[in-house]
Amino acid sequence: MAEALLVHTAADLPAGSIFVPTMGALHAGHAALVRRAAEIARERGSPAVMVSIFVNPTQFNDPADLARYPRTLDADRALCSKAGATHVWAPSVEEIYPPAAPLPEPRLPAVATAPGLEDGKRPGHFRGVYLVVKRLFDLVRPAAAVFGEKDWQQLALVRAMIEQERLAIDIVGHETIREPDGLAMSSRNVFLSAAERDAALTISRALRFAARCSTVGEAELLMWGMLERAGLEPEYAVIRDAATLAPLSPSTRRSTRALRGLIACRAGKTRLIDNMAWSAR
Ligand code: AMP
Repeated sequence: MAEALLVHTAADLPAGSIFVPTMGALHAGHAALVRRAAEIARERGSPAVMVSIFVNPTQFNDPADLARYPRTLDADRALCSKAGATHVWAPSVEEIYPPAAPLPEPRLPAVATAPGLEDGKRPGHFRGVYLVVKRLFDLVRPAAAVFGEKDWQQLALVRAMIEQERLAIDIVGHETIREPDGLAMSSRNVFLSAAERDAALTISRALRFAARCSTVGEAELLMWGMLERAGLEPEYAVIRDAATLAPLSPSTRRSTRALRGLIACRAGKTRLIDNMAWSAR
């Protein structure tokens, strides 16, 4: 296994890479994204598989959440190397947000402000995501970038951004990687107590059980009730159009168009999100 080159400034990055942006504290979910990026690089004869590690301050609306976000650069670099990355780029805040340059004000695509989802609960979050992804893309100039479906709304936002900014970057979505018991892997899972982790299993269970309901209204009620009974604090538990994330009437039944179940809730102090296709299994 060749060790990935640790790069600190964008000037040393090769263009045309296959890119995986992250905030570090990497786990097997991120490793799967890097392996996918390495596969794409092989298919395309592209020389570089790049992972960025940057805890982006502009996407945190809670300073305490930013302060406690886990930082594990050495372990992250080892994980990236093993998964096939050629470069790990850990930029400074000043490189991403030069102090002399005013922050641009992005025009957020509709998918970022779909009612009742992340935007309502984390005001400003997607502005920060838009700012950082655009800046990372400008500096890295990748040929393709891999994002996880775990952050479904974020993936939709990045796809919309590519259209809006007319960027020639292929966006590849990767399925969510889960623990054997179904919990979606997340850097925030380390904060869960044993009891909270146990309760958190209800999130993926609720998304799976929702597939047995015949209408959107029933599915939403079922998920909400399951989360509450497990002692979790639901923020949203909804079924949406998978692409636009627009709300649906409660009487909507499963149809040919793709629908998605999405949940955000708190287990103690920790906020967790997950999503799945809403379809009968
Ligand atoms: P993060 O650094 O955790 O904010 O995420 C970096 C990238 O990894 C994003 O594209 C996430 O959607 C993706 N990701 C995080 N957790 C998972 C997971 N369990 N499965 C698949 N992708 C993930």
